[in-house]
Amino acid sequence: MEKKEFRAESKRLLDLMINSIYTHKEIFLRELISNASDAIDKLYYKSLVDKDMDFSKEDFYISITRDTDDRVLTVTDTGIGMTREELEENLGVIAKSGSFAFKNENELTEEVDIIGQFGVGFYSAFMVADKVTVVSKAFGHDKAYKWESSGADGYTIEECHREDVGTDIILKLKENIEEENYDRFLEEYELRRIIKKYSDFIRYPIKMMVTKSRLKDGTENEYEDYTQEETINSMVPIWRRNKNELTEEDYENFYQEKRYGFDKPLRTIHFSVDGMMSYRSILYIPSKAPYDFYTKEYEKGLELYSSGVLIMDKCSELLPDYFSFVKGVVDSEDLSLNISREVLQHDRQLRLMGKKIEEKIKDELKDLLENEREKYEEFYKSFGNQLKFGVYKDFGMNRQALEDLLMFYSSKEGKLVTLEEYFNRMPEEQKYIYYASGDSIDRIDKLPQTELLKDKGYEILYFTDEIDEFSIKMLMNFKEKEFRSVSGGDLGLDSEEKTDEDREEIEDNKELFSSMKEILGDRIKEVRPSKRLKNHPVCLTSDGDLSIEMEKILKNLPNDAEIKADKILEINMGHEISHKLKDAFEKDKEKFKLYTDILYNQALLIEGLPLEDPVAFADNISKLM
Ligand code: ADP
Repeated sequence: MEKKEFRAESKRLLDLMINSIYTHKEIFLRELISNASDAIDKLYYKSLVDKDMDFSKEDFYISITRDTDDRVLTVTDTGIGMTREELEENLGVIAKSGSFAFKNENELTEEVDIIGQFGVGFYSAFMVADKVTVVSKAFGHDKAYKWESSGADGYTIEECHREDVGTDIILKLKENIEEENYDRFLEEYELRRIIKKYSDFIRYPIKMMVTKSRLKDGTENEYEDYTQEETINSMVPIWRRNKNELTEEDYENFYQEKRYGFDKPLRTIHFSVDGMMSYRSILYIPSKAPYDFYTKEYEKGLELYSSGVLIMDKCSELLPDYFSFVKGVVDSEDLSLNISREVLQHDRQLRLMGKKIEEKIKDELKDLLENEREKYEEFYKSFGNQLKFGVYKDFGMNRQALEDLLMFYSSKEGKLVTLEEYFNRMPEEQKYIYYASGDSIDRIDKLPQTELLKDKGYEILYFTDEIDEFSIKMLMNFKEKEFRSVSGGDLGLDSEEKTDEDREEIEDNKELFSSMKEILGDRIKEVRPSKRLKNHPVCLTSDGDLSIEMEKILKNLPNDAEIKADKILEINMGHEISHKLKDAFEKDKEKFKLYTDILYNQALLIEGLPLEDPVAFADNISKLM
């Protein structure tokens, strides 16, 4: 029979599995049972909405069979099955669902990382088996097919016989080696332990033949062994169980079994609501962003159950975008089974549930922030941008929900602080909340525009993420204190008020400034004496809503709108340079032009803006030297 090749990525993963030294090989069973349960979910759901289908609850189960002589372990389910094409698509290729993604070759060596981070689904079978055979008959089809593979060299598919709809995953276990005893996966006690540990909450019975002991007929103290099929798992979904019966490990196992993530969840929220709409829910706040979180492919949503039956994988209506990282389940008895997506979107009750869920998440995050600061910072590293994005996106409509959860790096504290903390520390006379934008903390720290404010002892928030300034613009203020960029027009400092002396200075240098402006043309709006510089000769600031940082970011976006901040070139009139400038202005127009050009370019460099003509700038410096 013709052997088909695995696709490249699958082959690499397979190699990895076959040669695995991963210590928790037992998770292969969790993965297979989880797939089996998903497959049953699909058929069960169909049977409930389609009145013509004749199924009873007893028809849905998973069974584990062991053949100790041949060393074969089989996981059978009565789920929806797979067609020939599906076998090919689903098992010949790494999960389309993206449970696995290669970023680069090196990651392959980091086996534990991969298994730890992504889980590996069906392929994990190859950690314990030499040969894997899948026999499946899909619902609504007459023919059954057998898929078989002994590893990375490929797989075969052929027609075969299977009486009923469903799937068998047949594992020929590897030979024992010194470091690993594969026989244990045939032992009743061990299998029971693994199932209990990872799959206890699976809603369908996981059946296995077990050995029991009974009194021999007609004797009083002689016992005999007999075998009997037993359901190993408790089947009660975890969200229906009492909180105080559950351990942290139970919640974690459920999180993993559901493949919500392969990190350890930071927090678990387990709650129930009674009333017009009664429901139970378990929500998880992950600690790490999944690899695709900040991509278009990422889909938010909670699993939605109606009385224990999964009706939707990712119900997005239950989560606001800014909490899209939350995972979990919601189960309600008051939802109709065949409710469609369209109906759901307009469902008032669903919106109420969504509101409540949002509140719960927010409270949990606040609690984390207040009581476990380090953990919150860990969370914020992964998901802070999502919160900021939330503020920005709806034109600040969600500010109430989010402003307390934001954090920025503080010039004073040298670490992340909340707006509340900043606010509480503000000296009475400080009018605004100051921020400075730039590529990195180091770079902002050196911005000349921050000199005066720091001198006054004012705290500055450092914005290093692109989204920062945009979202703060939407927030506009915090507790009625406006935000001000250190490079913005008015800093609200008393020293900024124009004194007579200042007016005189401007008047005296009127021609100098307008000459500079003439030389620089459209590139700037105005030249002004600076009130914020101490040691540096020049800086660029901006008038109006659009800052220079924002201009930089917008310029990088794929649209060709001409967006420009109104730039002001500020000159430190107390700096020695200004005397030279004045001197040149009076005596040597060529030199004056040169100085103006150099000063402007210096200001660009400090701002991290590209020079328009680096060669000319270098030439000009050489000329001076
Ligand atoms: P994932 O479960 O993350 O999608 P897997 O590699 O475990 O990745 O499985 C790939 C796909 O194969 C599943 O999405 C499912 O469509 C299909 N599949 C796996 N096991 C079964 C099964 N027992 N019954 C039906 N379909 C299955």
